[in-house]
Amino acid sequence: MASFSTPAIVLRAVNTGEADRIVTLFGRDTGRLSALARGARKSQKRFAGGLGLCTVGVALLRERANVELLTLEGFDGTVGHAALGADVGRMAHAAYAAELVSKLCAPRQVERAVYDWLAEFLAYLDLEGASAERLRVFELGLLGGLGFGPVIATCAVCAGASTAGRDASAVAFRWDPDRGGAVCVACARGGRPISAAARAALLHFAELPLGAASREALPADLNRDCREALAEIINHHIGGPLKSVEFIAKLSAASSGGRS
Ligand SMILES: [Zn+2]
Repeated sequence: MASFSTPAIVLRAVNTGEADRIVTLFGRDTGRLSALARGARKSQKRFAGGLGLCTVGVALLRERANVELLTLEGFDGTVGHAALGADVGRMAHAAYAAELVSKLCAPRQVERAVYDWLAEFLAYLDLEGASAERLRVFELGLLGGLGFGPVIATCAVCAGASTAGRDASAVAFRWDPDRGGAVCVACARGGRPISAAARAALLHFAELPLGAASREALPADLNRDCREALAEIINHHIGGPLKSVEFIAKLSAASSGGRS
């Protein structure tokens, strides 16, 4: 079978055998896939720039007959982000973004807009450093791009019908991921209360470009509310917590600001 190339981002790489690596890639033209990189730990020539986490580059791939694992014949990662490994904050956010994409995207499902969103997120992370607000914008854009975006502005059940003729901010809402997001109290059967401020912040972040996110300065408690609300939506879709979340939580606890 013929080789083909695609822009790709390294989501994961694990060593196998003497010198090989199994790499999970998010290909712009292929979606998520796994490939065997023979001799990757020895060949600087075929794997320029390495296969580090979140390296952006061009992958040269070959399908193998009756085998799910492709062969990664080469990876030119020279357009990778130099500063991503510069500090633990950048690394933690990159690892989280990679794990999130890995868990939320189905294998071999082409998602070009999601690919571009991740590439843009990594570029700003590299350039400006970690930002909790940017991470919220990324999560919302990713969820929305995959059709998992929560309903925030209106009630997910009655579409806000019960709020008609009233100031929407005066209507109490609950947050119920099982039913798609915000649910007005008239429709609510479960979930937990969510403040009007948290819903307003989520709505604002859902519209914000990634490049503007690091100039935002959300109060720590409001950021926490938004983070938890989105984590519930994410957990609902992947059915369990992410490994990298724990790492970010530890970093936040260690830093004075508690920002993640
Ligand atoms: Zn309702």
